[in-house]
Amino acid sequence: MKGFGTIIHGQTVGFLEKNIPEPGPFEALMEPVVIAPCTSDVHIAFEQGHNPARNNRILGHESVGRIVKLGEGCTEYKVGDVVVVPCTTPNWRTLEVQDGAFQHSGGLCQGMRIGTSQDGVMAEYYLVNDVEMNTARIPEGVSLESALMVSDMMTTGFHGVELADVQFGDSVVVIGTGPVGLMSIAAAKLRGAGRIIAVGSRPKCVELAYYYGANEVVNYKEGDIVEQIMALTGGRKVDRTVIAGGGTEQLPIAYRLTRPAGGIGDLVAADTPPRLDTDTAAFCRFVAHHKFSGGLCPGGRRRAERLLDLIKYGRVDPSLMLTHKFNGLESCPDAFELMHKKPQELVKPIVYMNV
Ligand code: NDP
Ligand code: ZN
Repeated sequence: MKGFGTIIHGQTVGFLEKNIPEPGPFEALMEPVVIAPCTSDVHIAFEQGHNPARNNRILGHESVGRIVKLGEGCTEYKVGDVVVVPCTTPNWRTLEVQDGAFQHSGGLCQGMRIGTSQDGVMAEYYLVNDVEMNTARIPEGVSLESALMVSDMMTTGFHGVELADVQFGDSVVVIGTGPVGLMSIAAAKLRGAGRIIAVGSRPKCVELAYYYGANEVVNYKEGDIVEQIMALTGGRKVDRTVIAGGGTEQLPIAYRLTRPAGGIGDLVAADTPPRLDTDTAAFCRFVAHHKFSGGLCPGGRRRAERLLDLIKYGRVDPSLMLTHKFNGLESCPDAFELMHKKPQELVKPIVYMNV
């Protein structure tokens, strides 16, 4: 079978030829119905230096898939069923799960395996482990496009708000108005935030930030983020900050923005140690009871079912983020390149594979 992925990690991407995988116990062989390229695909292919274990690896982790073949032990699904495949598919038979760290089942971040430690969804076929615990049927009334956004953008954006622990009436800053930040804004609103201030620059994203619930949007290219936000709040620090864009430089910014005992939820993986500068130290001296929590997005069937219900019952419509449409496996290199270049009008692309 054919797939698009990393040929030499850190250097080249292209089409790869592989054997069709055989589903083991509780696994399913799927064909992609719709997939979404992700900012993380670019990170996975090109960042963190050269990791030979990532050579010859098919990319892609956001999908709605159709079951082609079921492994031994599967009882609920049948061939032909169409399900949302979350990007995090934990191994539920691990000790990490018993410790509540299911995203890290099998090791740090190993709950996310599709498109990283095993071949991904930009392919003719792909495997899903523990398919009946890790995927969810799409309820009536939920479009394929919206269901696809559950796989990563919704679960991740919503997790940022869980990590920051947003409460009724809280003032919240969401750094980043890409699709992840947009879903954090929507989630903050659903959690009852009072004032929501977003940080971003691309005009289409800014428009959607207001749509999903931001009251103000600050452009980080037009000046210091902290100064701009403090000018809006009259110098008062906010209750919660979600980091959904930028890099490690956002950590000290989040500390400086957030009041003592406030919450900081970080979604951006830092491969260089965060620089906690002297300004940050002067503000909080790291004894200000900030609750900092960074996390990989939750997966699993119940998580996906809950997010699908939010769509079904009209609480959020993530499909509005889909600005660019592609058709077929052959278009994956163009869709991937789009994520690399991030043109002004881009929010999130979708690739129709086997609809
Ligand atoms: P995008 O690139 O689409 O969005 C990033 C946002 O951050 C944009 O609004 C961008 O602004 C803004 N930004 C960029 N640089 C800065 C800066 N210096 N200061 C402030 N804002 C800045 O990414 P996604 O929405 O797809 O993903 C967001 C992050 O979440 C990525 O780092 C991704 O890897 C991560 N992620 C984490 C997951 C997890 O499980 N923890 C899962 C999925 C993604 P502009 O409008 O100018 O582009
Ligand atoms: Zn993703």
